Formats: sequence, structure tokens, C-alpha cells
Amino acid sequence: MNDIYGSLINGEWHDSGAQMPNINPSDTSDIIGHLASATPAMVSDAIAAARAAQPAWEGMKLEERKNRLHAIGQELIDRCDEIGEVLSREEGKPFAEGRGETFRAGEFFQYYAAECLRQIGESAASVRPGIHIDITREAVGVFGLITPWNFPTAIPAWKMGPALAYGNTVVLKPSEIVPASSHLMAEVINKHLPEGVFNMVQGGGEIGAALSSGKIDGVSFTGSVATGRKIAQAAVQNMARVQCEMGSKNPIVITEHADIDLAVAQSIVGAFGASGQKCTASSRLIVDAKVHDEFVEKLAKAAEAKKVGHALADGTELGPVVTEGQMDKILGYMKLAQDEGGDLVTGGERLDRDTEGYYLAPTVFAGTKNDMRVNREEVFGPMTCVIKVDGFDEGLATANDTEFGLSAAIITQNLKEAEHFKRGAKFGCTLVNLPTAGLDYHVPFGGRNASSYGPREQGEHAKDFYTIMKTSYTNPG
Ligand code: NAD
Repeated sequence: MNDIYGSLINGEWHDSGAQMPNINPSDTSDIIGHLASATPAMVSDAIAAARAAQPAWEGMKLEERKNRLHAIGQELIDRCDEIGEVLSREEGKPFAEGRGETFRAGEFFQYYAAECLRQIGESAASVRPGIHIDITREAVGVFGLITPWNFPTAIPAWKMGPALAYGNTVVLKPSEIVPASSHLMAEVINKHLPEGVFNMVQGGGEIGAALSSGKIDGVSFTGSVATGRKIAQAAVQNMARVQCEMGSKNPIVITEHADIDLAVAQSIVGAFGASGQKCTASSRLIVDAKVHDEFVEKLAKAAEAKKVGHALADGTELGPVVTEGQMDKILGYMKLAQDEGGDLVTGGERLDRDTEGYYLAPTVFAGTKNDMRVNREEVFGPMTCVIKVDGFDEGLATANDTEFGLSAAIITQNLKEAEHFKRGAKFGCTLVNLPTAGLDYHVPFGGRNASSYGPREQGEHAKDFYTIMKTSYTNPG
């Protein structure tokens, strides 16, 4: 594996020399190679390569396209230990999660391989006698895909899979924080596709900006709201399609009818999986006063039992957070929660381990109010806040009182509450007796309000973004 992570343009690797060290957050003395950023001119070359390759890719026999995507998926699955280890080493999630994510990336490709054969149109009767109407879908053209660091293989896969399956070509700009796993995945993809169909440019925001304002037909972005706004504005200037999946403040409502042990178990998974660095993390725990004290006591014990350590060490349940900057930001929110009047139940500090890394204790605050900044802004770390409410109606209203709207869960044994919550929660995903994180790959994913902009990702509905409809009229004479 290369030490320098450069860009792939028209089937060839380019690097402009080592620029940014890729630091292992579990052990900051471990440098996993260097990022070699692309230049804006290289971004234009990558877009031009994708443009040139697109007609032949769209015209390729469907079964061949399917077989190629399937082969990518299979290789990612076969190599999920190797790629998952690199992912965990550079991003910090425990190896089981890094491996599992890479396996999932393979499953996305295999799901969309099958979608290649499911491109079935519609027909309609005309209002004019004797005329036939067909409604078909065609590729849009060239897509820019801009992705974050927290799922370095799965998020690019869930965008590339449908983009390629429906006959488009792509330029991927992965996060500058995870260049090594992006590089490995790009090597796999490149092996199975004609030159120019898949291109990747490495680099930070500047390179993302060059891509989103380049001559592309659409851009799919996952990341923060602030970046999403900029990308949407850039895309609209060129009349390019745009899809943004962004942050959230996902609630779990725990009612008086909840199984409290289940509520604790699901809150722990939702709040601390991937050290809370998930757009679907359960960061607001809205608990009925009748069960509040029991819940908080059990939650604290469960959080304290979590083993925090090196991402690649046996038994680690929570790895470090991804960068020093991210750690400082989260520590800042832990202080803010106390300044705003929250009660620190457990955690709230940096931890020392055998290696120097960005380790934070799983942190729970109680006594918080929904209007505090810690309950309005995305923290993106191993910290969750308990909000006490009186009754189901207040719980649902509190859950909905947010500018975001990605994922919301309820823990209850009461069917009426569960059904009412599913209908009343203003979120893109709702879950009953499950955490807000951990979703399937064959059904739509996305949110409402500030969490999402544009059509849904994943499942067959992804075609609404990655295809364009054509309505054809025939007069058979
Ligand atoms: P980020 O917005 O800082 O960066 C995301 C990507 O955008 C990176 O590749 C970055 O280089 C690029 N970028 C930065 N500035 C740009 C610009 N001006 N123009 C174009 N591209 C630019 O986000 P992040 O810190 O990498 O990821 C964390 C965020 O991602 C969180 O807010 C989280 O909620 C969100 N996220 C959302 C989902 C979802 O599906 N809703 C999933 C995972 C992460």
C-alpha cells in the first residue's frame, strides 16, 4: 500500500508530493502515510475524464455493468479485514466497526449491481386515441460526490453504487482526514471499471469547492450543515442537481411504559457507537419523570462499564475521537453543558491510555433543558444529554423541537404510544424500541429540515436523484 495518497484520474494515479500527515488518533506517534492533495486543475481533469467515459458506460450491456459492480462489492467484502483495519487505524472506530463498515460498503455495491437489471419503465395511455406513451429513466451524466470522515467506506459506497448502476460516471472527493481507506477502496473500484468511469480527487474543502462548482451534472454531499449550504449554492449556480445529508440532534423518547433495561441498552448503542460520531447518534434522551431516576442511574453504570481504548486493541468498545480539533470541540461542549446548568452524571474528561490518543470518557449529563445549546447544536462525540419531561405529549413535542430531523426513536411497550410517535415525529427515520443509529441499506435514508436537502439516498429510491425521466410518445400509425 502506498504511503502517499494521491488522486485517481482516468485510471492513473497522480500525486503532488506528501503534504498532510495522516495521524492515527489511537496513537499519535503512528503516521499512516501522507495525503497528497489534488489541485483545482486536477479536479477539472477528473471531471473531463468522467465526462468522456460516460456515454460508453451508460451504453454498456446491463449484465456487464452489473457484473463489474458485483465484483467491486465482492472484493470489498473479501478484503474487509484488511481495509477495515486501515479504516480503524486512521479514523479510530473499533476494528469490529471498521471491518463491519467495509463489509457493508461491499453490500451497497452488490445491492446496486442487482439494480442495474431492475431498470423497468412505465407506460401510459394517451388522452389522444392511438398514441402510446413510455416513461423511461436515463443517466444524468457526471456526479461529484463529497463525503465526510466518519464512514470512510460506507458513505462513498452508498453514493457510488447508485450513481454507477444507473449509468453515470463519478468524481469522488473523500474527506482529507481518511485518505488511506479511501485510497484502498479506490484501488479496488478502479480494478473493475473502465478508465474514467470512477475518479477520485484527494484534498480538503478547497478541492471540494472546486468539484461542486465544476462542470458536473449533480453533486451528492454528506457532511455538516455549513458545508452543505455552500455546496448547494455552488451547484445551483450551474443548475446541477444537489443532494445534501447533514447533521442532527436525534432524540430517544423513553416513556413511562418503557422496558428500562432495554432503554438503557439502546441509549448506550445510540449515544456511544463510533464514539458518538454518527449523524444518527442519540444525543438527546427525553425521559418521562416517572422512570427518570432509575434510567439515569442505570445509564451511568452502563456508560462507566464501556471499555475505551486503542481502536485495534482486543476488547475496545469505544475508540478515540478522530482528531485533536474534534476532541477540543467536544471537551468545549462538555464544559458548556456544565456552564448551562447541566448535571454531569459521568465522564466529562479526556482519558489517558498506554498510547497518546484522543480518548474521551463516555459522558452523560442530566438536568438539561431542550433549549440549551448542547441540545440544539451537534456535538458529534461520546456525550448525551438527558431531558426530563412529564408524559408522552411533552416527550414528542420536545423531540420535535429542533431545527434538525434525521432520526428519532421511542422506547415503549405501549402500542398506542409507538404508533402515535411514528406518525407524529417530524423526522426522516423513526424507530421503536431501537436506537436512532443502525439502519438498513436497502431502504431510503434521509432526514427533514436542516438534516437533509434534496431526494433520498439508498434503496431503489436513489434513482430519483441519479436518473432523469424521459416521456416518449409514439403514434404507431
Ligand atoms: P464537513 O462538512 O466538514 O466535511 C465534509 C466534506 O466536505 C469533506 O470531504 C470536506 O473536505 C468537504 N468540504 C469542506 N468544505 C467544503 C466546501 N466549501 N466545499 C465543498 N466541500 C467541502 O463534515 P465532516 O466534519 O467531515 O463530517 C461530520 C458531519 O457530517 C457532521 O455534521 C455529521 O452529522 C455529518 N454526517 C451526516 C450524515 C448523514 O447521512 N446525514 C452521515 C455522516 C456524517
